[in-house]
Amino acid sequence: MHEMALMAGVFDIIKQYTTDLEESRVTKVTLVVGEMTNAVPEALQSAFAVYSAGTVVEGAELLIREIPLTAECMSCGWAGKTEKHLFICPQCSSLGLELKTGRELYLESLEVE
Ligand SMILES: [Zn+2]
Repeated sequence: MHEMALMAGVFDIIKQYTTDLEESRVTKVTLVVGEMTNAVPEALQSAFAVYSAGTVVEGAELLIREIPLTAECMSCGWAGKTEKHLFICPQCSSLGLELKTGRELYLESLEVE
């Protein structure tokens, strides 16, 4: 499962932040997930439950902030939401679209109690 691998990476980072937190607990984790990552929120939640078991993160709430795929045209300046794998400008049909958002996958915040 794709999401398990993604979550493994996220937990590597969480571990770096929580190694000194033996007396505390993480209560909320906010993850930013771009559309291009093809990660399914429900699968991320399941993967989160698996990885958090037995750690300071166990029982924490996972908040997923989804980022849509947007691009900007290098030819005519059009900018907006685009479809996956269809990098053609809807305004001038140029193939020179530059991806602006949608590739994100990072830990935005950790709330600790
Ligand atoms: Zn264009």
